[in-house]
Amino acid sequence: MTVVEQRQPTKAREVTNNIPFVRTKLSPEALTAATRVLESGWLTTGPEVQLFEAEFAAWVGADYAVATSSCTAAIELGLRALRLPRGSRVLVSTITFCGAVHAIIHAGYQPVLVDVDPVTVMPSVRTVRDAVDRPGHIDAMLVVHLAGAPANVDELADAAGLDRDRIVEDAAHALGTRCGTKRVGSGESTTCFSFYATKNLPIGEGGMVTTNNADVAERIRRMRLHGMSTDAWRRYLPGGSWRYTVETSGLKANMTDVQASIGRAQLRHLADWQRRRREIAARYDRSLAGVPGIALPQRPRDGGHAWHLYAVRVLPLCPDDHSGIRRDRIADELARRGIGTSVHFIPLHTMPFFMRSTLPPDPSFVGAEAAYAQLLSLPMHPNLTDEEVDVVSETLGALLVQN
Ligand SMILES: *Cc1c(COP(=O)(O)O)cnc(C)c1O
Repeated sequence: MTVVEQRQPTKAREVTNNIPFVRTKLSPEALTAATRVLESGWLTTGPEVQLFEAEFAAWVGADYAVATSSCTAAIELGLRALRLPRGSRVLVSTITFCGAVHAIIHAGYQPVLVDVDPVTVMPSVRTVRDAVDRPGHIDAMLVVHLAGAPANVDELADAAGLDRDRIVEDAAHALGTRCGTKRVGSGESTTCFSFYATKNLPIGEGGMVTTNNADVAERIRRMRLHGMSTDAWRRYLPGGSWRYTVETSGLKANMTDVQASIGRAQLRHLADWQRRRREIAARYDRSLAGVPGIALPQRPRDGGHAWHLYAVRVLPLCPDDHSGIRRDRIADELARRGIGTSVHFIPLHTMPFFMRSTLPPDPSFVGAEAAYAQLLSLPMHPNLTDEEVDVVSETLGALLVQN
């Protein structure tokens, strides 16, 4: 009885934090811009989308940008624009967001899952070679820059035996990432970005494809709106013609002017928000440096991290324990203390739908299984205060000593 009485106040004191995993940052200008468009009389794809595309292309350093309804749609369109035969095989990491693999399937291709390096949590030259050595020709690859860390696209393309124009980059985490000195999205491959509510440039929903290839840009532009030769804005413009034709299959995957106006306003803050993310990462690095039992995210050897996520690895007490029990316990204890965390991502080869729809059959992905048991994404967003970072670090440090 006394034990219970002594414990209750401690428990009550524990849940004093309110540090959710993410708090979306919407600039005041975004609210004004959205209202302006809502009052303008034009709600779907129009002049705001064109301006957002131009401003986004300039920010990233790409020749062309095409706005879409989501990054998932952007990936599907980027893959369709390769115009490969049905059933062509596309390499993709087993540790990525499920939407990326759905996009490969909806584009008409066959996803081939690739294991990851347990430290970078991304496919390496070795795991890509292992995938290519299995029976069956590989036709394309989707490369993810996980957490915002730069993947070495050239090395991976070489390992897969693919030309750069057969690579589509999943840059949902990588707005602001640099490979060497070049921003992700300014290179040779079709690159797909996300404006989902939790991403580095939040709109709520939305996506963008960047490319330096005029033909690819034009194909994606048509396919995003039913394959129609002209969009509604151009048809209804004064003096515009109602005529259009359809020469290719397409999706309904256009962005609205309301979304674009929010995106344009948000883009003006992106450099500041990215600076804040780098400060937060540096503060976590410093305050967690001496803590035993975790591994901190690696700094890129060559390039710049966009810090979409700050993912630590909670090391098991016994090296071959891949149960994830210790990580789960720490995540639960943090949640009880009002600190939100997440895991990016659950390996896709463990999920029923992807077991049926992807290759190889019965994969043995030791890197992914080791990494998955350890991954823990800490709160990381530009609204996070220094004090909150310190509370997360101190609480995590104390839990690691006790668990
Ligand atoms: C969020 C995310 C996507 C999908 O983005 P949407 O805009 O929500 O479609 C794709 N890949 C990765 C790695 C993501 O995190």
